Amino acid sequence: MTTVAAYAAPAAKAPLERTTIERRAVREHDVLIDIKFAGICHSDIHQVREGWGEAIFPMVPGHEIAGVVSEVGPGVTRFKVGDRVGVGCMVDSCRECEMCRAGKEQYCLNGQTPTYNGIGRDGEPTYGGYSEKVVVDENFVVRIPDGIALDVAAPLLCAGITLYSPLKRFGAGPGRKVAVVGMGGLGHMGVKIAHAMGAEVTVLSQSLRKKDDGLRLGADHYYATSDPKTFEELRGSFDLIVSTVSAPLDFAAYLSLLKPEGTLANVGAPEDPISLNLFSLIGGGRSLAGSMIGGIAETQETLDFCAEHGIGAEIELIAASEINEAYERVENSDVRYRFVIDTATI
Ligand code: NAP
Ligand code: ZN
Ligand code: ZN
Repeated sequence: MTTVAAYAAPAAKAPLERTTIERRAVREHDVLIDIKFAGICHSDIHQVREGWGEAIFPMVPGHEIAGVVSEVGPGVTRFKVGDRVGVGCMVDSCRECEMCRAGKEQYCLNGQTPTYNGIGRDGEPTYGGYSEKVVVDENFVVRIPDGIALDVAAPLLCAGITLYSPLKRFGAGPGRKVAVVGMGGLGHMGVKIAHAMGAEVTVLSQSLRKKDDGLRLGADHYYATSDPKTFEELRGSFDLIVSTVSAPLDFAAYLSLLKPEGTLANVGAPEDPISLNLFSLIGGGRSLAGSMIGGIAETQETLDFCAEHGIGAEIELIAASEINEAYERVENSDVRYRFVIDTATI
């Protein structure tokens, strides 16, 4: 066991504070990673606040981890000391079920092990990336290509894969009109990735405050959803809409913006349920789909795709002492566009 410094919420809704945690000794197939950077995802905040239900405390959040391998177990074949690596939202799964065999470990039928706020298959609680080091089975570690700096790579481990996966699954590409709802951490990655895939990209944001950034990052059009004219003008326009919004949304209004047989893929995870008039799906044969992160192989594919297209996140690098303030800013939609913790400051 190794004692490492970390930032943790001691109880639900409590501010995060510096503490120490134990990391397990490196096992046969484990790698020890010196964490360099950890992104702040809105999911960290939902869980610290217990917005999704009962959680495990103390909680060390963080599932956008970028670092360097500093030790490997004797059975490790994929990594060596010095490799630049990332860890996302899960650190284990059953590896035997239909989903795991299909490379969709995130949907493991026996339950994947989340990077934090979970109990590992060894019965121990898991602690995330707001810390100096982490020990992870090599099968849940991905390689960060040399072309991407570690700080802007960290958010690709959750925000990047979470948008890449549905954009690919629902065919974002040349000749397709794609809208991204919400220009936050996930949304801005969606703009960059959908643009790189060749789609015509529209941002649907609450206001026009971030319009210049949206266009700079690859959007072709940018509309404010606070303006009712937006919904009239864009009616029936899109092949695909990806919603990244962290709060309940009027889905019927957004479904009306799809072409017939278009798809609204939702990745936002609001704390409260929504109600939906199903005629907004039936009329026009539209689909409402969900998507959660992506499998390990697809996460590697995301990193490789981003390296090939020169894509990293737009980040605001912060010290660990600024985490609580950053949480407030994320909750106020005041993030441009991902806070990343410099873990050397822990
Ligand atoms: P974020 O940075 O806070 O971005 C969310 C964006 O949604 C905001 O920037 C804002 O964009 C918009 N928004 C916020 N409140 C709104 C409201 N009341 N009405 C309309 N729009 C609103 O959060 P994030 O880290 O990107 O995460 C977004 C959501 O996805 C969270 O719920 C998170 O838990 C979830 N998530 C899901 C997955 C998955 O696998 N499915 C993975 C990661 C995160 P504008 O200012 O442009 O309007
Ligand atoms: Zn996340
Ligand atoms: Zn499984």
